Amino acid sequence: MKFPKTIRTYCNNCRKHTLHEVEISKKRPRRTMAQGQRRFLRIQKGYGSFPRPQPDHEKATKKLDLRYKCGECGKKHMRGKGWRAKKFEIVRG
Ligand SMILES: [Zn+2]
Repeated sequence: MKFPKTIRTYCNNCRKHTLHEVEISKKRPRRTMAQGQRRFLRIQKGYGSFPRPQPDHEKATKKLDLRYKCGECGKKHMRGKGWRAKKFEIVRG
């Protein structure tokens, strides 16, 4: 799908509608040593109970992770949940 590069939406910092720049957030590596991740791995391996079944297939599309940067204060924020799309491009407009 095509998505505009700039969008007019509410900024929590400015407390009004301003122009926002849309960008796709960069993928960060998983924190393998984080406490929650270690706990999850233990549970998944079956410590304390049965091992969790592994997913047999990956989903064909990934959910989008968009960030909106306010043009006035420069703060970035999220705007609801991401949705699935096969193709995604940011167009001028
Ligand atoms: Zn702002």
